[in-house]
Amino acid sequence: MPLYLGVDDTDSLRGMCTTFLATELVQALADWDLIGFPRLVRLNPNIPWKTRGNGAICLRLGRGHGPRFPVGQIGNRTVWAFRRGSEIPLTDEILTKTAQVVERWAEFDDPSTNPAFVLLHKAPSAGLYWRAVRTIVTKDEALREIAGLGIRKEYKNGRGVIGAAAATAWRPRDRTYEVLAYRARDRWGTLRAISGESVRRLDVEFPSTFNNYDWESERVVLAPRTPCPVLCGIRGDDPWELPVALAGLDGEPPDRWLLFETNQGTDDHLTRHSIALRPSTSVSITGRVGAPPRTVRGGHVVFPLLGRHPIDIVAYEPSKGFRARVRDLAPGDVIRAVGSIRDVPRSLNLEKLELIALADVVKKVENPRCLGCARRMKSSGRRGPYRCRRCGTRRPRSDAPHIIRPRRISLGWYEPPAGSRRHLSKPLKRMAFGQVGKEAVVGRPSIRASPKSLAEPYPCLLPAATSLVRV
Ligand SMILES: [Zn+2]
Repeated sequence: MPLYLGVDDTDSLRGMCTTFLATELVQALADWDLIGFPRLVRLNPNIPWKTRGNGAICLRLGRGHGPRFPVGQIGNRTVWAFRRGSEIPLTDEILTKTAQVVERWAEFDDPSTNPAFVLLHKAPSAGLYWRAVRTIVTKDEALREIAGLGIRKEYKNGRGVIGAAAATAWRPRDRTYEVLAYRARDRWGTLRAISGESVRRLDVEFPSTFNNYDWESERVVLAPRTPCPVLCGIRGDDPWELPVALAGLDGEPPDRWLLFETNQGTDDHLTRHSIALRPSTSVSITGRVGAPPRTVRGGHVVFPLLGRHPIDIVAYEPSKGFRARVRDLAPGDVIRAVGSIRDVPRSLNLEKLELIALADVVKKVENPRCLGCARRMKSSGRRGPYRCRRCGTRRPRSDAPHIIRPRRISLGWYEPPAGSRRHLSKPLKRMAFGQVGKEAVVGRPSIRASPKSLAEPYPCLLPAATSLVRV
């Protein structure tokens, strides 16, 4: 069993990034072998004190056995990892070297940064990870989970120990990968030069990657706009494609890169039992649209969802064109809404939606004619019956001829453009891998499986109606 090193809360909005610290750690700890990929573990995105994507890292250290594989490049040095490894003792040397890196690179000046790391002989229970990605875990709770498993080092209020411990507790059910490339030190804080054309090409040529480019607003998404050391990050399902995709980008050359195994794009944050719609959790709920969506100040689109847990659903302005799909919903439509619960005002911040059943939207064509004198009747108020002005005959409102209006939206899933998705949100592109709100499929199929290769081992997948009949 390897030694688990978890680090969290070393970054700030002003600069550092915990994943960069991972590249410094693999250099400082080069005397030991990496077992498995370095890990980038995103935790509950709804934690109030977090202003950025709540991410922690985990490195597993040991003495590697068998074939090794490349997981990074730092200067001229290739970073290798092993699938398997044997245990190493938790020595003072490992502790000291880790502390030196954290102390050199963490943003101690930022009041909201509270770094910590853990070094554990054994991973804590997987339950700690699931609670940390879906709810709010207290520091005491995290400390109880790692009691007796190794050592921890905290700085300032040490809140980072929660994420550090949770990262070591992750046992992937579903996983994706991200190659993160970093900039040369003298470029930090300057404008990044990445060719948009090469990003668009990458997005088309590497279909196993996601969230590279926002085609709607024509914006490069794979590069951050903060002053941090990250040049760009390419996410995808096939780890071996990512360094190739990175090499194909035109522009600023990376100073180093590291390939992470991550829980990004897995929907791990969704609570399956959304009994109470607790604030700061993310849920997947179904219900009926209760009223036409309306656009409120700021460009946000709001509508009520009726069902077991009635709640207002909000598609915020940054979700851009997604809001137009939301506006296409009509009262009576049955949908699945996926998103995080906000406390005040009580609402669900929509991450994506599935339109399950379309309601008939009827429109009155004209007023009915009088049954006595055949004159066109007049309406008497919004809810009142129709009335003939000449002879006083009345007819109910339902007697007016109506048509069913064609709808502009069809059944299926809808999501915001790549630029406004959450790290943990499973992009629709990955939806074949398990279902929303349910556990992901274990042993995920290759995204490149051709329809033919799928049909052969599973002939029952072919619908009976289309099977060939010899005549
Ligand atoms: Zn009449």
